Amino acid sequence: MTTPERRPLVAGNWKMNGGRADARGWAEAARVVADQTSNEVALFPPYPWLGLVLEAVGGAGAKVVVGGQACHPEPSGAFTGAVSAGMLADLGCKSVLCGHSERRHVFGESDDFVAKSMAAALEAGLVPVLCVGETAEEREAGQTEAVVARQLDAGLAVLRSGDDPLIVAYEPVWAIGTGNPATPKEAAEAHAFIRQRIAERDPERAATVRILYGGSVKPSNIDGFLAVPDVDGALVGGASLDPETFAPIACAKAGTADG
Ligand code: PEP
Repeated sequence: MTTPERRPLVAGNWKMNGGRADARGWAEAARVVADQTSNEVALFPPYPWLGLVLEAVGGAGAKVVVGGQACHPEPSGAFTGAVSAGMLADLGCKSVLCGHSERRHVFGESDDFVAKSMAAALEAGLVPVLCVGETAEEREAGQTEAVVARQLDAGLAVLRSGDDPLIVAYEPVWAIGTGNPATPKEAAEAHAFIRQRIAERDPERAATVRILYGGSVKPSNIDGFLAVPDVDGALVGGASLDPETFAPIACAKAGTADG
């Protein structure tokens, strides 16, 4: 269901990819694409390229939203290698990913750490994109809903009021970077569960929150995901590293899949 609040959002997560020239080129291409679609377009580049990406998409007031891939819960201090939410906001970022699967599974971020980083993001005025999703083992063990509920509840608990912004990304770990996406049916089940879980705390938020699907999204499968009523866009990794694949995903229309 596309409502004004749930305008489809297509976000590119570049992870640790691309040099300076790539970043400039990809950002300039995203700026062009954002003018050609009614979808919202967002980019999550590596930290060193945030400044140039912000400039390349058009600076303050640009259509393309630019955000960090993670932030530390603390505003400053002895946390070598980390970046605070306030720094991202100071730079001009509007959003930040919280608890991306690689932060959870490669860097060991716990639900508690992710929730605290989300609280820091809100405090800094950023829109947090709370990423949740189960591993293959957890799905096989029938724990998908329990895992997603646990990750979701930890994040929802730090929302200060119904006015705090939130975007959720459902990204099954087994689908990320594997070329093995969830089926639209699997995404539909997980997204409906997430929306229902949010509704138990805040029905108004549940009606308006955008829930993105992430995991091996490509030009060939985006229509199938956007046809699912509870899917409000996509978080795209690999396919965001080439404007030729990112552009058609970013421009896909909700509810246009065959069948
Ligand atoms: C991601 O990085 O969030 C992601 C979904 O990656 P990919 O599209 O490559 O699976």
